[in-house]
Amino acid sequence: MPVDALALVTADQLSHDLSALDGLERASTVVLMVEVVEETDYVPHHRKKMAFLLSAMRHHAEDLERAGWSVDYVRLDAPGNTGSFGGEMARAIDRHAPKRIRFTHPGEWRVLEMARGWEERFGIPVEIPEDTRFICPTPDFSAWAKGRKVFRMEHFYREMRRKTGFLMEGDKPAGGRWNLDAENRKPADADLFMPRPLRIEPDRITREVLDMVAKRFPDRFGDLEPFSFPVTRTDALRALDHFTETALARFGDYQDAMLSGEPFLYHSLLSPCLNAGLLNPLEVCRAVENAYRAGNAQLNAAEGFIRQIIGWREYVRGIYWLRMPDYARENALQADRPLPWFYWSGETRMACVSACVRQTKAEAYAHHIQRLMVTGNFALLAGISPSELHEWYLAVYADAFEWVELPNTLGMSQFADGGLLGSKPYAASGNYIGRMSDYCGNCAYDVKEKTGETACPFNPLYWDFLRRNSERLASNPRLRIVMSAQRKRSPERQGHDREVARRVISALANDRPLSPDTFSDLERP
Ligand code: FAD
Ligand code: SF4
Repeated sequence: MPVDALALVTADQLSHDLSALDGLERASTVVLMVEVVEETDYVPHHRKKMAFLLSAMRHHAEDLERAGWSVDYVRLDAPGNTGSFGGEMARAIDRHAPKRIRFTHPGEWRVLEMARGWEERFGIPVEIPEDTRFICPTPDFSAWAKGRKVFRMEHFYREMRRKTGFLMEGDKPAGGRWNLDAENRKPADADLFMPRPLRIEPDRITREVLDMVAKRFPDRFGDLEPFSFPVTRTDALRALDHFTETALARFGDYQDAMLSGEPFLYHSLLSPCLNAGLLNPLEVCRAVENAYRAGNAQLNAAEGFIRQIIGWREYVRGIYWLRMPDYARENALQADRPLPWFYWSGETRMACVSACVRQTKAEAYAHHIQRLMVTGNFALLAGISPSELHEWYLAVYADAFEWVELPNTLGMSQFADGGLLGSKPYAASGNYIGRMSDYCGNCAYDVKEKTGETACPFNPLYWDFLRRNSERLASNPRLRIVMSAQRKRSPERQGHDREVARRVISALANDRPLSPDTFSDLERP
């Protein structure tokens, strides 16, 4: 039978309800799935991330075949693999002579631009339907954003609550308040019972992928094993059940906490499955709402969780598509220092940074506050280039796809969009980490010290960050108190902050521990 449509399915489109397949006849469609070096190499992806996505793709191809689709699957090591989407599309067109190409709107500007060029390149129609797995279609987000001077997630989130009906009682939010975040800031205690994430033993397909990744990428960042990610929809649904049964009840309370040796606390670990398409955001929120309605979770846990998905996740995607491609180049604070090498090794005496980087290397995972308030905060205070940092986040996390990673890194964490996405920079001294974690107890530095040989580096860096950016941040209403405190520091004190920060950055960049020598000639103001 002649082939009507060639439908490309990429590693983040592993869903059975994908719009590219919608309305197509199984008998006259070829689903094309390709593993290409262009995608494994454009940033140095963590080895666990690559294994997760390749194994999930291979499982999904089998599922599609079982469902009656004809799948043309090109493996990374297949003879003749050209290594690019465009090259593999050209070869597949030669093999199948389709009348048209179908490709669900991809999650990255670079790939969308490439796909838009295929109609001219291959001389057949290319259809790019909206990605219906998201709750807010991109045109709806543009309509929401139109005419607004400032964008705030909170306003967008309320619209999403009304649209989805999650945690609503009539037209009012359950419990009377839209946002219960203020209840979600407890530091964790090592004595608490910590649930263990669901561990899934690698099957034959995953084993084959692990061996291939180990051989092909021996020097890449990231531990490959132990590997226990869900790689099928069935296992992803098991992981969702496991989360609602074991961790959701305490998710809200300890959402911002950090604890040595406990990388996961009460987080769901569902972002890789959501972003690859193994789970649908609506079904995840429904499961959480059901747990709340059944009395198995408090409102602050269910609301906090649902807000992350229908609020933040949809909001950052909206911003990405609204502002790309210029968004990726924004650098409102003109930060231009190179990424410190210890982001790739964890070898630093700052216990918090070391713990988060080492955990990232082991798990391809860090929870939100570790990303935002430790590695992100350090980079913000130290003036690291947002684009270098963006490449790091995109590479090292299993859930990292540009539409979600870039706005989180550049906008939320680095304030590089000048406050479009978030209302203030997430800059904090060591105090915050001291309050929300137990890292400082095992650190070479003293979180209470502001100057001197053992001062926590976050402290001088924080004051110097405010000084450096005082003009740019002067009119930010949420920073009024700290900026006023900064201005009240004497000129000598501010000069001292600057010099201490300069020496801290230079020592850290050259892997010199801060020692008495670092500051010995400085007079304390
Ligand atoms: P949970 O804490 O259990 O949260 C539940 C779900 O909410 C997550 O699975 C995720 O789908 C969603 N969510 C929570 N916060 C956000 C957010 N800010 N933006 C979008 N979705 C959110 N998330 C990614 O999915 N991919 C990324 O590449 C990514 N990069 C980030 C980079 C930085 C600098 C920061 C500060 C955050 C980033 N996030 C990213 C958001 C967040 O850190 C992760 O979604 C979360 O840590 C995933 O772990 P979890 O599934 O255990 O989440
Ligand atoms: Fe991090 Fe400072 Fe605490 Fe050390 S003292 S763990 S550097 S916040």
